[in-house]
Formats: sequence, structure tokens, C-alpha cells
Amino acid sequence: TTRVSAMPPLPVSKAAEVGEYDLFVIGGGSGGLGCARRAASYGAKVGLVEASHRLGGTCVNVGCVPKKVMWYTSEVADALRNAASYGFGSDEVNYGIANSFEWPKLKAKRDAYIHRLNGIYDRNLAKDNVDYHEGFASFIDANTVEIKEANGEKYTVKAKTIVVSVGGRPTLPTEEQVPGAKYGMDSDGFFDLETQPKRVAVVGAGYIAVELAGVFNGLGSDTHLFIRYDAVLRTFDPMLSEVLVPWMEKTGMHIHKHSAIPKIEKTESGTLLIHQKGQDKPVEVDALVWAIGRHSNIDGLGLDKVGVKVDNKGDIVVDEWQATNVPNIFAIGDVQGKALLTPVAIAAGRRLSNRLYGGPKFKDDKLSYEDIPSVVFSHPTIGSVGLSEPEAREKYGDAIKVYKTQFRDMSGAMLDEDHKQPTAYKLVCLGEEERVIGLHLIGKGSDEVLQGFAVAIKAGATRKTFQDTVAIHPTSAEEIVTIF
Ligand code: FAD
Ligand code: NDP
Repeated sequence: TTRVSAMPPLPVSKAAEVGEYDLFVIGGGSGGLGCARRAASYGAKVGLVEASHRLGGTCVNVGCVPKKVMWYTSEVADALRNAASYGFGSDEVNYGIANSFEWPKLKAKRDAYIHRLNGIYDRNLAKDNVDYHEGFASFIDANTVEIKEANGEKYTVKAKTIVVSVGGRPTLPTEEQVPGAKYGMDSDGFFDLETQPKRVAVVGAGYIAVELAGVFNGLGSDTHLFIRYDAVLRTFDPMLSEVLVPWMEKTGMHIHKHSAIPKIEKTESGTLLIHQKGQDKPVEVDALVWAIGRHSNIDGLGLDKVGVKVDNKGDIVVDEWQATNVPNIFAIGDVQGKALLTPVAIAAGRRLSNRLYGGPKFKDDKLSYEDIPSVVFSHPTIGSVGLSEPEAREKYGDAIKVYKTQFRDMSGAMLDEDHKQPTAYKLVCLGEEERVIGLHLIGKGSDEVLQGFAVAIKAGATRKTFQDTVAIHPTSAEEIVTIF
């Protein structure tokens, strides 16, 4: 089998040699690795299988990590464009440098960085005594998994407990839904792009659409974002889109609101024509990225053979203990359909292993899916935890009090008006004591600011706790404790 990592292949212990596992984990991504390594740390006999020949899953290979590299790259371009205002060079020179960005050069470096991470994951598994199997797994029965290797050979492993952590993959429209949809790529394809498209279309309104469109726009591609309504990130507090969308437009992104795409055409020269209902003229681009959601990787897994229940979206149904309806089979991470985030998958996996193998101290350990903070790496960034204002009002009615502020952060002090990024914060409080149950941030640094406040909210902080905390000046975050 070929591995993309720089590491030489590690020996794989086949079931015949190792006998029955205490725990067998299907999927070597965020959740699976966290779960397997934690179980092994308690002395359990653990095996893990990964189908893609590289460990780390979506996050490391085609998600959080390469995405964050691209986000940083786009921020560097932005800093260059603002540099003359801070006394460095001239706009002419600095914009020239920003425009000289070499996508292929950065991509090669980014790929090498990811390959190094794959190697580290290989070594960590070996160090922690987890057997690493390479191949595609499917259930034979509730205690037996068949592994099909890349060369077509098959063998089986047996385990007392099996954890499914197969993650998900991007959803694309079918050719029946949108003829020509196949000319577009998904977010995996984004990370394969060898050159920067001069003109690009991104379809979708969630995390991935906003982040990838932001990267293209920041790096100078003529960027068209197609959304079905007039807002992005509609599951978040509406303030965030109300601030982000006008700023994306101000920074040159074309946002096609209320758009419906009946077909995509490919021209002889290879460009794509994006047709929209109600518009005569299609938008011509060099590349198209679909970012309209993801679905679980359950095809071929044989869940039906063992009777593991899935819902109508194809996500595995689990209870609060990550348990499926089959007593020895558990599911963690994206495949269970809730909070598709790397730290959620890792935390669920580790806590499950704590509970199963960590002794009496951990007998009730499980992940709470409440108050999970998350960040959207837009420009500027968004951070959000707890209930949005509409969610809170629906749940608690008049018992809700909301505090808001909007300003230009000080990083823009030397910039002309057009370049000053917006910042907006909202706190959602509940009841007499005004317990903080929601915090929604957009503005430079929101990605880093949120974590600490998420701790406070998890600990039950109230308006008084926030007010009793002395501000740190001059920062943007100080506004969160002086907002009242
Ligand atoms: P995965 O990491 O997807 O791992 C599943 C693994 O199982 C894969 O390696 C797959 O090859 C393997 N597999 C599948 N089927 C089989 C089989 N039958 N046999 C063997 N192996 C199999 N989250 C964040 O928290 N922050 C971010 O900034 C962020 N950015 C993202 C950006 C993008 C573009 C995307 C797509 C996602 C991003 N996410 C982010 C989400 C994050 O990547 C996922 O939530 C996380 O990877 C889920 O972990 P998992 O273990 O459930 O699945
Ligand atoms: P999301 O579910 O976040 O967003 C997809 C959005 O696309 C929908 O909300 C919908 O918005 C829109 N959409 C759906 N169908 C269509 C369609 N047919 N045509 C046009 N638009 C459509 O999915 P993503 O793929 O963006 O991301 C998947 C998950 O991965 C995220 O939910 C997140 O959990 C995780 N992730 C996390 C990141 C982070 O932590 N920074 C970054 C990237 C991903 P609408 O209804 O408004 O049209």
C-alpha cells in the first residue's frame, strides 16, 4: 500500500496475529484517533482502520488545517494591502507584492506540511500501541469487521467493542438536480487546486462557502458567492451575517442573493457559465466550488447487516453516551450528525474511552453538546457560543436581555475609512441574574477571543461576573465586559 506520509510503512498486525481486540475503531480521523489512543492508554488492546492511506481524516487533510493555512495566506495579503497606511512602502509596491502571490508555491509548502502531520499521526499510533490497519472496513456482524486492502485482499478482525468514526464527505447536486453540476468541485477539490482561478464561483452559505469565498477574494480572485437567501450562516445569530455580507461586498466579492442555479455550462475554452433563474446573462468563471453541506460516509459500511439505526439524513443515531442501538457499537464525530467540529469528535472519542476503559472515576464520562463554541474563519472572523437571540427568545420569551455593540477596531486606526473592518458583539442574557447564554462576535481576533469567554459561559457566568472583570485596554475584547 502507498502512503502519502514521509514515514516508512509501519508493520500492520493482522487479526490472525493479534487475536481479538477490546476495541476496534473504524476511521482514522479526529474522533477515531482520539478514541483509539485514549483507550490504549488504559491498556486496552486497540486496532484502528483507515481507508484513505493517510491518517488525520478530514480536518488534517482536507479541512481545518489546510483551510487555516489558506486563511492566514489571505490575511497576509490583506496586511500587505494595508501596510502603506502604517508607513511601509507605498500602495503601488505593496499591492504589487500582494498581487504577486504564487498559489503553486504555497500549495506545495502546504502539502508538505500536511504530509509531515500525517507522519506524526503514524508515529503517535505506533507509540501508543494501537494497531494500524490500512483498508476499507465493513461490518460482517456486530463483532466482526472485514477489511479490504487497496490490492483487493480481504481479512477480518474481531472486537468486543466497535466505534464507528467514518466522518463525512461533501454533498454535490446530482446531474438531474443541476445539469452541469459535475463541472464544479467540492471542498476536497479546492485543496487539490494547483493554480489560482482568476474568476471563481462558490455556491453555498455555510461555514465552508464563507471561508473559501473569503480566501479566494482575499487572494485576488474575482469571487462570486451564490446564496439561496439574502444572508449567509443563517443558523447563527443574524447580526453576524448583517455585518459580514456588506463587508464581503465592500471588499469586492460579488454576492448573488436569492439565487437559484438551473444549470452550469462548460464553454469550448473550458470556462464555466453559471446560469441563474431570472437572469439573462450567465456569470462566466474559471472554476466552481460547491459548498452546500456534507453527509455521512456510511456507504458500504454494512450497517444494515448489524442493524445499526441511521436517521433519514444518513447519520448514525446515538444516545448521550455515543451508543447506537446495537449494544457494543458506538459512533462518534461527524457520522452522528451533531456539531460537525474536530474538537467535538475528539472530545466525544476520548470521553467514550475514559468511560469504557478508564475505571470507576470515569463511569459517567460523556460529552455535553451544549454551549459548544465555534469559529468561522471569515475576514474578519466570527466566533459564536450558546443561543442566538432568535433561539433564546423562542425558548425564554421576555426573560431575555440582549446587549450589542458595533465599532471599528483599533487595527484600523491608521487606515482610511474604506479599509477599517467592522466589529460587532452581542451578548444574550437570561433571567433576573442575567446569566450569559449566548455570545456572538464578528471582528478581527474573534477567533482567538472566543475560547476564554466560552469557559466563562460554561461556568455559568452572569452579567455581574462579566462586569466585575476588569477590562484589558486597548483591545476589542474589552468591549465584551464593558458592553452593559
Ligand atoms: P473525519 O475526520 O472525516 O475522519 C473519518 C475517517 O474515516 C476518514 O479519514 C475516512 O477516510 C475514514 N473512513 C471513512 N469510511 C471508512 C471505512 N469504511 N473504512 C475505513 N475508514 C473509513 N472543524 C473545526 O473544528 N474547525 C475548522 O476550522 C474546520 N474546518 C473545516 C474545513 C473544511 C473544508 C471541512 C470539510 C471541515 C472542517 N471542519 C472543521 C470539520 C472537521 O474537519 C470535522 O468535524 C472532523 O474532521 C470530523 O472528525 P471525524 O473523526 O468525525 O471524521
Ligand atoms: P453547512 O451545513 O454549514 O452549510 C451549508 C449551507 O449551504 C446550508 O446551510 C444552506 O444554507 C446552503 N445550501 C444547502 N443546500 C443548498 C443548495 N442546494 N444550493 C445552495 N445552497 C445550499 O455545511 P458546510 O458544507 O459549509 O460545512 C459542513 C460542516 O463542517 C459545518 O456545518 C461545520 O460544522 C463544519 N465546518 C466547520 C468549520 C469551522 O469550524 N470553522 C469550517 C468548515 C466546516 P441556506 O439554507 O442559507 O441556503
